[in-house]
Amino acid sequence: MSWRLAKCLIQLRDEINKTFPERDKASDGSVGDLHHLPRKSDHNPNANGVVTAIDVDRDLNDGHDGRELVSALVASRDPRIKYIIFERQISVTGIVTKWNPYHGPNAHNHHVHISVSADPALYDSAAPWALKFKQNGNAPQAPRTPLPSLYKRGSRGDGVRELQRVLMERGYIPKGKIDGVFGPKTEIAVRQFQSAHKLNPDGMAGTVTLKALGL
Ligand SMILES: [Zn+2]
Repeated sequence: MSWRLAKCLIQLRDEINKTFPERDKASDGSVGDLHHLPRKSDHNPNANGVVTAIDVDRDLNDGHDGRELVSALVASRDPRIKYIIFERQISVTGIVTKWNPYHGPNAHNHHVHISVSADPALYDSAAPWALKFKQNGNAPQAPRTPLPSLYKRGSRGDGVRELQRVLMERGYIPKGKIDGVFGPKTEIAVRQFQSAHKLNPDGMAGTVTLKALGL
């Protein structure tokens, strides 16, 4: 299938390359990036054959780090940004200043993932990003929310959804809908997983259980 990268991302990549000409591109990516499976990914071409996400290796060389890129993107408040994923954090869709824990299979410790708007007027806007990188290597960090380390009966949200997805993949929850609500069925599934992995079967997904699940 033929595809092309959204124009705003070509522009963004050019600007990053201009600022950091010697940067490492080993973890760069654009199309069909498998680390976002099994969810629907912006790395897959949309209906118009356009890929609306890129990965940028965090090693910007010369002591510069992807964190500076994230900070510059956050500071830009550019409406073209849909969300960013970096270091187990994901920004809220359309609100680049708000971040949540990211429980996807790839922590994004080696690259910065940038998804842009699904609106062609935005994703194909090649207007300069004019990112202001802090060149002192001491850039402020992206706003961080602590990673929830315990899910139990009554927990809800994206983290629970991710937990249910993994339990389903492993056959502890029957195939079906994932509701993001930690109810009795999720609790039973957690207990079964814990028993099968010689963990304390308390039905609560804490640090040890989440780690055993690869989360
Ligand atoms: Zn990515």
